[in-house]
Formats: sequence, structure tokens, C-alpha cells
Amino acid sequence: MMRLPKFDYRVPREIAEAVKIIAGAGPEGQFVAGGTDLYPNMKRRQQTPKTVISVMRLPELNQITGEGRSGIRIGSSVTLTDICEHPIINRDYPFIANAARLISTPILRNMGTIGGNLLLDTRCNYYDQNYEWRKGINFCLKKDGDVCWVAPGSSKCWAVQSSDLVPVMVAIGAKLRFASTLGERVIAAAGLYNDDGIDYLHKRPDELLVDIQLPPTNGWRASYHKLRRRGAFDFPVLGVAAYVRLDEPVRTGSGSDRVVGVARIVLGGIAPSPVVVEDAAAALIGHPLDSDHIQAAAEAAYVKTRPLDNTDFVMNWRKQMTRQYTLRALNELV
Ligand SMILES: Cc1cc2nc3c(=O)[nH]c(=O)nc-3n(C[C@H](O)[C@H](O)[C@H](O)COP(=O)(O)OP(=O)(O)OC[C@H]3O[C@@H](n4cnc5c(N)ncnc54)[C@H](O)[C@@H]3O)c2cc1C
Ligand code: SF4
Repeated sequence: MMRLPKFDYRVPREIAEAVKIIAGAGPEGQFVAGGTDLYPNMKRRQQTPKTVISVMRLPELNQITGEGRSGIRIGSSVTLTDICEHPIINRDYPFIANAARLISTPILRNMGTIGGNLLLDTRCNYYDQNYEWRKGINFCLKKDGDVCWVAPGSSKCWAVQSSDLVPVMVAIGAKLRFASTLGERVIAAAGLYNDDGIDYLHKRPDELLVDIQLPPTNGWRASYHKLRRRGAFDFPVLGVAAYVRLDEPVRTGSGSDRVVGVARIVLGGIAPSPVVVEDAAAALIGHPLDSDHIQAAAEAAYVKTRPLDNTDFVMNWRKQMTRQYTLRALNELV
């Protein structure tokens, strides 16, 4: 049985107290929400904080406020189950509830939070193993070793960003609010992720994720489709988030059609950070959301995808599936 290492456990009741504790703990401190990612990592000695600070008793982080017309704020400690069941999220942002429903299992969703999901560690077959297994291969670049077993000539870690909600938040342009002893900052979700499996977040360890701000639902649509081995539960080995805003009709010879004004296709589960496929968006913008243009966007997503051999399934098949899953995600928006 894998045991947790010893650590101090702190449960602050206010944001100011939480950020003060982590500032005092320095690099040995780490926040925990549901612990469904951090505690397994600690048992495998991948992350070994000496002070673990729970964010579950901070009232501001447990609230959902607003609705579609004004935009919604979701506190980062809101559980995935609460997101799946929330009536306003289901009514105004159904694709968020759908993506949350695809995460792990009901029991893990009761514990796991939206904040923990957006800050999830990157994953790799050579890393998500117990200590003895990793020692057996002399560890790897991401922790305790000096070679990447996926790309031995590479000085970079290619561990995969594997959250289901990340591509969706990037696609819809969600914003994230952080707090620390230095004050607050709000950034676009797209700006948080770094294309490096070790240094995967543009965030200091002492920054607390306070809430996630979803934009008003003024005329756009979004969807998320996930590839995984087992339908009941598994991390995504490909996730496709699609976002489209249709503009007012333009007159054509044969009538009038609404055309795509803004589009974003974001892929998850294939690289250390979510991949925004600009060419797929370009294939849609200025055109009706019809079969020909959806096909062109799916082709662009297929061309851009370069999965590596460090998660489930054969690489080439996962690449081919990008076309299919982009088609599905976009067809859902027609
Ligand atoms: C068997 C299994 C299957 C899974 N399947 C999936 C899946 O299909 N899809 C998927 O996306 N995920 C999956 N997960 C991962 C995980 O369960 C979820 O991503 C979950 O939402 C993580 O939330 P948490 O609250 O438990 O995070 P935690 O483990 O508490 O934290 C995760 C990270 O976020 C940091 N953190 C948490 N809250 C804050 C905060 N407010 N401010 C700053 N830092 C913070 C922690 O320090 C840690 O680094 C799975 C996990 C397991 C064990
Ligand atoms: S991609 Fe390479 S360095 Fe990163 S976790 Fe996997 S084997 Fe280790």
C-alpha cells in the first residue's frame, strides 16, 4: 500500500489567512482542494510538500454567483458534482456541466473541484507510476531523473495536459482570478498554460485560484467531445472544445445565411498545454457553419495534432480521431 509522507495540514477560513500561510511556507507549501490529484502524487513521491493548505473552508471559493446574461463566477473549490447538478450552469452553460460529467467517477467528482481540475499536474506513462517503478527506470526529467523517456534527445518534458475543463475554458475565453500576499490578478484561461510538462503553469506556487469567470452567453455556442478508452472513467487522450459565434445574416444570391464571426477550436490531451488551432478557426470565420466548412476545420485540426507516445492508444490513431472529434464538436453547434 502506498502511504502519504508526513506533512503539516492547515485549514484557513479566510483568503488573507490562506495566502499568508503559503507565503510563510515558501516552496515547501502547496494548496489542496479535493486532493484527488495531489494526494496520489504525494503517495508516489512526485510532489512532496511539507505544508499542505486546504482551500475547502474558504467561503468565497465555494460559491456560484450570476447567470448567463451577466456571466457566472464559480469559486475554485466548487466540486465537480455541484457543477454537474447546478441548475443555472445546466441551463446557460450546458457544455460546462457536460464536460464536468465526463471527468473521472461520481465519487471522485464529489471530492474533486473545478480549481483542482484547471491546475491539474501534467501526465505521462513514465511518470504516473509509483516510486519503485520510476526508480526502476532511473526516474525521468520531470522528477528525480535527467532523461525524457518519451523523447530521449529532448531537454523538454512532454507530459500531457489532461484536464477536461481546460480546453473548454480556453475556448470560451473564461477568466481566472488569483490572490496572493502581493494582491490580485485576473488572467484569461488561455494565458495560464505553458507548453512544458514540468513548468506547465504561468503561475507562482503561492498564488491562490479564487474563482473562474465565465463570459455572458450573448449569442455564442460551445461544445466538448472527449476520447478515452473506458466510457465509465478515464483521463482524456484527446479532448476537443469548439466555440462559435454566429453573426447577423448576410444577403446572398440564394437567400441569407448567418456566418461565423468568431471561432475557436482547442485540443486537450495531446501536448503539455491546450492547443489552439488557428487554422481551424480560419476555415470557419466568414462562412456559414455548414458541412463543407466544418470538414475544412476538422482537417486543419487533424493536420495540427501531433500526439506523443506517452498516453493511451496508438499515436497515429489518436491523430486521426482528431478529425472525427472536431467534426462531432462542430456538428453539435449547427
Ligand atoms: C482515477 C482518477 C481519474 C481521473 N479522471 C479524470 C478525468 O477523466 N478528467 C480530468 O480532467 N481529471 C481526472 N482526474 C483528476 C482529478 O480527479 C480532477 O482533475 C479533479 O478535478 C482535481 O481536483 P481536486 O480538487 O481533487 O484537485 P487537488 O488534487 O486538490 O489539486 C490539484 C492541483 O491544484 C492545486 N490547487 C487546487 N486548488 C487550488 C487553488 N484554489 N489555488 C491554487 N492551487 C490549487 C493543488 O495544489 C494541486 O497542485 C482523475 C483522477 C483520478 C484519481
Ligand atoms: S515526457 Fe519525458 S520527462 Fe516528461 S514525464 Fe514523460 S518521460 Fe518524464
